[in-house]
Amino acid sequence: QYRERILQLARRKDAEDDFLGMLITCRDEWVTSFLYETAAGVRQKLYGRDVYIRGLIEISNFCKNDCYYCGIRKSNRELTRYHIGEDEILECCEEGYALGFRTFVLQGGEDGYYTDDRLCRIITGIKKEYPDCAVTLSLGERSRESYKKLHDAGADRYLLRHETADETHYRQLHPSSLSLENRKQCLFYLKELGYQVGSGFMVGSPGQIPEHLIEDLRFLQKLQPAMIGIGPFLPHKDTPFREEKEGDLTMCLNLTAILRLLFPHALIPATTALGTLHSEGRELGILAGANVVMPNLSPLSVRQLYSLYNNKACTGLEAAEHKVLLEKRMERIGYRIVTSRGDVVK
Ligand code: SAM
Repeated sequence: QYRERILQLARRKDAEDDFLGMLITCRDEWVTSFLYETAAGVRQKLYGRDVYIRGLIEISNFCKNDCYYCGIRKSNRELTRYHIGEDEILECCEEGYALGFRTFVLQGGEDGYYTDDRLCRIITGIKKEYPDCAVTLSLGERSRESYKKLHDAGADRYLLRHETADETHYRQLHPSSLSLENRKQCLFYLKELGYQVGSGFMVGSPGQIPEHLIEDLRFLQKLQPAMIGIGPFLPHKDTPFREEKEGDLTMCLNLTAILRLLFPHALIPATTALGTLHSEGRELGILAGANVVMPNLSPLSVRQLYSLYNNKACTGLEAAEHKVLLEKRMERIGYRIVTSRGDVVK
């Protein structure tokens, strides 16, 4: 019966809340294996066994926000703060290009240093030097005008997780200076402006219940993003959530597979948080339907400082300079890393 219902979910690209809730929390290995195989099959039809890579450049750990879960929140006084300049970002891209990266993701806290003018110069600089590459931004909430300027300068994609689509839960994770309404508004602005938009949420964040995750899936169905990033919540020692429990691996994998069935074309990363939670998290994510990995291309001197959660992986498999290792690990499970921009297939 489960088998039939999972196949039906794959055909309809939708399911009732109660079935989604059951799959999200399912721990029956027979059912979860069938779920992952079905998701991998759907992915394979559209993307073959290709895995796209993105070079992640963590440009700043300054942040004006105070999200309770995040290690770079402004109230964390234990952290040495940094941001990297235009030339350094271009050096990261140079190194990344030579390694075969054709997408650069500039991610950081909400840092006033990156004015629109400065960012436009950086984006134009990357696009001029590497016209065959995509530029993805992940710099939080900005005004519509700002998003427009950055898009006009050449930014192709924007990652902004909605974090949780439940109003009350959102309040439990964020101070009152932030609102779910504005977060969602930003996502719709980005879409309207022509970005390929990525959203997503943490799995197992404090206060989360399965109903919230169903709301997350329903919100994503409204947004129809090109990219969906999820990963386990992991506690950080210098945040109010230091004692909270980390997200569950099986639940992350179940959700990855469900997302693949609901959004067959989506670009879904096997995230760093998943790789931090489990030493084979990246592989498990790919086997459950993910098709992207985002190795770290930040300057070595700052990698430890972009500390979102305890023990964040930034070496070995997570490091762009160890791409060969990543290639080997992907080959071992029957997948291959490709050198391409890795746009969404239509
Ligand atoms: N400031 C930008 C934003 O808000 O989108 C980008 C940087 S933010 C640090 C990137 C992502 O890190 C967030 O969307 C959040 O889901 C994730 N993150 C932060 N703290 C985390 C934690 N403790 N565990 C897991 N993921 C976390």
